[in-house]
Amino acid sequence: IAGNWKMNKTCQQTRQYFEEMLPGIDCEGRDVVICPTYLSLKDAVEATAKTNVKIGAQNMHYEESGAFTGEVSAEMLKEAGVQFVIIGHSERRTYYAETNESVNKKVKKALLSELTPIVCVGENLDQRQKGETFDFVREQIEKSLEGINDERLVVAYEPIWAIGTGVTATSEQAEEVCEFIRGVLGEKCKENSEKIRILYGGSVNASNIKELMSCKDIDGVLVGGASLKSDFVKIVNYE
Ligand code: PEP
Repeated sequence: IAGNWKMNKTCQQTRQYFEEMLPGIDCEGRDVVICPTYLSLKDAVEATAKTNVKIGAQNMHYEESGAFTGEVSAEMLKEAGVQFVIIGHSERRTYYAETNESVNKKVKKALLSELTPIVCVGENLDQRQKGETFDFVREQIEKSLEGINDERLVVAYEPIWAIGTGVTATSEQAEEVCEFIRGVLGEKCKENSEKIRILYGGSVNASNIKELMSCKDIDGVLVGGASLKSDFVKIVNYE
């Protein structure tokens, strides 16, 4: 269960969040990851040091170092104590021209650096309405994961029409695409496809988590808005 804070929370707010939330979070049998902004990573790592909550970044560059103004490398994330990294979130694809090709380079670099990549894919409303969801998601997976076969991968299916809109995909819609993704991974990654974790993301909240998690091919969730609030404790502790 991963939380993506996007561009929210200062360092001080990050420390306060963990002070308030950590006592209520029960990670028994569940992997919990929080992805704050770059600036809050060190505070988040420190705050969660004695717990099972892990910290992820929301992006990284694929090069080691150099003239890439405003970017952060895998090595820098590792040094800060980060274990996960979200790659190819739809907001990065839409607003920052992230492509399947750059996602591919980042995923390769993350794995080499022993960071666990959470690779995001998902169609927009227009594509869904035109019946292009499966072709589009297949292309995203094939290109973003070209040359990669690794059981540490995490793939997040995030239909863009469900992100931040309050419209959640029904569990049938979510499962249908996650099952399809498992099949595409099976063609690409053979036996590893059963070990690769597939998450659903898009307006997940405390009321829909249980049903989504009961789906066969949904191994976890990526949570945006609701990860900023006390709702996240309820999501993590769902029964
Ligand atoms: C996200 O941005 O990854 C996300 C799933 O957002 P939300 O939960 O707010 O829809």
